[in-house]
Amino acid sequence: MREKLRSTRVRAKHAITDPGTWDIKMRADDRGAGMDQPIARRDFLNGVAIAAGSIAGVLLPDMATEVLAGKAASPAGRGYYPPSLTGLRGSHPGSFELAHKLRYGDLPLQAPRPAEIYDLVIVGGGISGLAAAYFYRERKPSARILVLDNHDDFGGHAKRNEFELGGRIELINGGTLGIDSPRPYSVIAAGLLRKLGVDPVKLDATCTKKSFYGSIGLSRGIFFDRETFGSDKLVVGVGTLAWADLLAEAPLTPRVRTDIARLYEAKIDYMAGLSREQKKERLARMSYRDFLVNVAHADPGVLPVFQARTHGEWGVGIDAVGALEVWPLRFPGFQGLDLAEPGATPQMGFTASGYAATGGSYTFHFPDGNASIARLLVRSLVPSSIPGRSAEDIVTATADYRQLDRPGAPVRIRLSSTAVSVRNLGEPASAREAEVIYSRGGTLAAVRCKAVILACWNMMIPYLCPELPERQKEALRYPVKTPLVYTSVAIRNWRAFRELGVHDIYAPGSYHSSVRLNQTVDIGGYLSVRSPDDPILVHMVRTPCKPGLDQRQQHRVGRAELLDTSFEVFERNIRDQLARMLGPGNFDPAADIIAITVNRWPHGYAYEYNPLFDPYWNEHEQPHVIGRAPFGRITIANSDAGAGAYTDCAIDQAHRAIEELVATEK
Ligand SMILES: Cc1cc2nc3c(=O)[nH]c(=O)nc-3n(C[C@H](O)[C@H](O)[C@H](O)COP(=O)(O)OP(=O)(O)OC[C@H]3O[C@@H](n4cnc5c(N)ncnc54)[C@H](O)[C@@H]3O)c2cc1C
Repeated sequence: MREKLRSTRVRAKHAITDPGTWDIKMRADDRGAGMDQPIARRDFLNGVAIAAGSIAGVLLPDMATEVLAGKAASPAGRGYYPPSLTGLRGSHPGSFELAHKLRYGDLPLQAPRPAEIYDLVIVGGGISGLAAAYFYRERKPSARILVLDNHDDFGGHAKRNEFELGGRIELINGGTLGIDSPRPYSVIAAGLLRKLGVDPVKLDATCTKKSFYGSIGLSRGIFFDRETFGSDKLVVGVGTLAWADLLAEAPLTPRVRTDIARLYEAKIDYMAGLSREQKKERLARMSYRDFLVNVAHADPGVLPVFQARTHGEWGVGIDAVGALEVWPLRFPGFQGLDLAEPGATPQMGFTASGYAATGGSYTFHFPDGNASIARLLVRSLVPSSIPGRSAEDIVTATADYRQLDRPGAPVRIRLSSTAVSVRNLGEPASAREAEVIYSRGGTLAAVRCKAVILACWNMMIPYLCPELPERQKEALRYPVKTPLVYTSVAIRNWRAFRELGVHDIYAPGSYHSSVRLNQTVDIGGYLSVRSPDDPILVHMVRTPCKPGLDQRQQHRVGRAELLDTSFEVFERNIRDQLARMLGPGNFDPAADIIAITVNRWPHGYAYEYNPLFDPYWNEHEQPHVIGRAPFGRITIANSDAGAGAYTDCAIDQAHRAIEELVATEK
């Protein structure tokens, strides 16, 4: 996916830890699954990888400082290059522990004297923080800006996974994938893309090869696991076979098979006698699970089959997602309900949540997802950090992380730096300056500035700014971000997928509920894999939800589970699942898995109100609106501030925050 593919593979080899030194008890069946195979692992010894001679692995903040200062370099000579790190990524060990200490009041803050002065300090180097820096520079070209982020890489959720496989670079998204949204991009968000040189419509037409796998005869499948369904079985042909044929050998009762076929294929009005609006009002208030059983009168045996269908979009199962929300996504059962005006496209319209989406967004995505947008923003802010000029060449460009935080540069991006205190210097109403204290490499530092943008996460803000009004802090604490995992697995070849005729598998009962081959995008110098004999990346999604609880509670429990899960547990489950799904196609996890990156997001998608659980609020009463009020020299960006888990939301909120700030400077 990028320029010359140095060697993730070589790097991974350098990162190998002698299996003999692992503090991991091998199980009887582990060897066959390949748990003894040398791949990079990094989650032992409190998150510090013991990787002789390599920077690959989790860097403690002080190690990261050394690397950034040029004191450490990777064996490949490219320097500090987090996109190619494997093991536990996303919220990687070393990135969040300090914030959790702050949360539990366990972090003594002895304010040092401010050592640096900026016009603007931005907390959070995700799309929102980077966009805020971009917008501020448009308004104030000579402004001096510092961006702080607690991770060892920039981009927030928009992270790039980069592997060198078989002599070429293979890219995949570690988080945000698409330039998509339930609504069309605003003038602001679309305008920013245009200024960055991104024309999603044109790129979609020229670069996306959606039909490649179909063109070689692969289709989608469903994997039924023995723990949930009684026996392991992969069925292939979703979208190409009639449901009765597809499910003929599935471990389901005849009644369940018939009901699933009916739900997908029959055009029945299960709510006859109600008007369109009455139907929508009821569907908005019932879960899709309840719709299937109570309205469509399906056998409860269909529920385990559909349970995980909503994992990818909402991070919870069909027990916690409203029926009206899944209707526009063409979930089965609605085709006879006549919910849309004739000829109209189904549109989301959650009357209860106040979130009226209209659809119609872009469909293009870069090979590394919106990490490319983050990289374009960084290139614009710190031109020496990434070479090139276009949206095409950004894909294969190698970032030079040493350039991000150069003394004297107008914009500095400081990684592995966790803000722990943000306050106005003086009364908020009259303050002319603010102060930010952050920790890096185990040391606290302070900066003074004319203004601060908090482009981090809402629930963190009350701990950073305890002086905020109580009502605002309460509102900021309301949303609970969605925990989820995007796992990238490098495999030696994809002959097993070819053999089985499948490229995308829904696995409702398995550890990861979806598994698919890397999508095909050719852009600039980056060409996706075409031959089943070549190495490729597999994308797997896990959402640790807990059916039966309300959505925010499910997220809390899932987050705790994710933070408590070691890489070893992820790896064992990945190997087991791939072996069972693809074994009939001769997949051998011990021989075929080259590397694993687990992108763990305990604080993932921004919370979007759920009509099943949240009260109806007028706009000015909504927690995210109350929570984003400016506070003296401090304004609030980030996607939580828009209650929307989309890139356009992060950009729009950055713009609003900057406009609020600039208004106070007039
Ligand atoms: C797995 C996943 C997939 C997604 N897929 C899509 C998609 O396909 N399309 C789409 O449009 N959207 C998608 N989203 C949502 C999208 O990523 C977000 O809406 C957007 O990128 C959020 O940007 P942000 O800058 O507001 O927040 P973030 O990206 O979360 O960035 C905020 C940054 O602030 C940092 N931070 C927090 N506290 C501190 C502190 N105290 N000090 C320093 N730094 C701090 C955080 O660690 C983080 O790096 C996805 C999200 C996830 C998690």
